Amino acid sequence: MITFDEAHDFVLSAVDALRPLRRPLVDALGAVAAENLVAREAVPGFANSSMDGYAMRSIDTQSPPTRLRVVGTTLAGDAPAPAVGPGEAVRIMTGAALPEGADCVCMIEEIEVDATRGEVLLTREMAAGDAVRHPGDDIAVGDLLLARGDVLNPPLLGVIASQGLDSLLVYPRPRVGVLSTGDELAGPNVELGPGEIRDANRPLLTGMLQASGFEVIDLGVALDDYPSTLALLESAAATCDAVISTGGVSVGDVDHVKSAILALGQPQARWMQVAIRPGKPFAFGVVGPRGVPLFGLPGNPVSTRVSFELFVRPALRRLAGHRDVDRPRLNAVMNETLTRSKDGKLYVVHAEVRVGRDARLRVERVARHGSHLLRGIAGANALALIPDGTEIAAGESVSVLLLDDLDVSETGS
Ligand code: AMP
Ligand code: MG
Repeated sequence: MITFDEAHDFVLSAVDALRPLRRPLVDALGAVAAENLVAREAVPGFANSSMDGYAMRSIDTQSPPTRLRVVGTTLAGDAPAPAVGPGEAVRIMTGAALPEGADCVCMIEEIEVDATRGEVLLTREMAAGDAVRHPGDDIAVGDLLLARGDVLNPPLLGVIASQGLDSLLVYPRPRVGVLSTGDELAGPNVELGPGEIRDANRPLLTGMLQASGFEVIDLGVALDDYPSTLALLESAAATCDAVISTGGVSVGDVDHVKSAILALGQPQARWMQVAIRPGKPFAFGVVGPRGVPLFGLPGNPVSTRVSFELFVRPALRRLAGHRDVDRPRLNAVMNETLTRSKDGKLYVVHAEVRVGRDARLRVERVARHGSHLLRGIAGANALALIPDGTEIAAGESVSVLLLDDLDVSETGS
């Protein structure tokens, strides 16, 4: 057996980010930037008004009340209005360029308009800069707006567009093939024959992949037959950026996925017995000139989930160009004592984690152990990492990997 860390590092050291491509901003939300972006345009690009009001010289307003002659109007998008001289004002709308000579804007609500005389009256003193947005306030030329590895969120899309760009170099979303294997797997909407079961893993993996922002390619089901498994994996590796297969990686008589991955992924392919539970057997190799990773996960659904979270998702996030590839790891206090066998393995236990009244993270509930007990993990939002030993007592702290970082709402306890 090898440790979790060794298996994790082996996988991650074998994968690299996919080749960047240019993507339109309208389709770039959640993508990872593959280039740095340095500002070439200042924002704002020119001094302009933040209010609807009147542009004027603050020096004219120092002994109120002040009367100013209105010499023009300027709207957003207009060329700059004629200069404002002593005793003059220009009616100005939000976003319009500040006329030469003016150094402030008085909002319309604080001004009395004398339309018949073409004048405005104000009773307050103005200071230079009032209601003026200065060039470069938001972005100065030369600012680093975006670094390679940053994830594009809605504000960043706006920032990129503010530079006159409508696309950006990003890492592609990995296209991930998903294959289930096993003679026992029956399709949906048919009655089960003797010994047959439903395929839970493809929907499970499809959902986990989609939830993590990857594209899914459904490769269907392979029978427990070496030549066809090999052919399927080989053709999948030619069209996908990564391939995940479930089942057939243990020490059974028909565990052909293991042999196929070892054959395709030479020289660095490896079948591992990882000291974790569940998820011990695991096959991994990279195939072809593009170095397409093939992941052979154990067939039990909970094992599939655990191996995906621990090894596959981090590797796929590396393909997608992310800097942080692992789930956030925090400490949480056990609410109950959990007993286990001392067997040299790290137990990876599905758990419900909540923020307690003391503002500390708590493991409220752990799922009943059993790699076939899929329903029991549906409410989990974390994986608790229980180190080797005989128990972890209530009140002790454990490491947890948060599966859904938004869902740690407060608990009653
Ligand atoms: P295997 O790793 O192929 O020996 O499979 C281990 C266990 O997982 C067996 O009980 C399989 O029947 C079960 N299993 C394999 N694939 C699936 C699947 N796609 N959905 C649900 N259970 C599966
Ligand atoms: Mg099988």
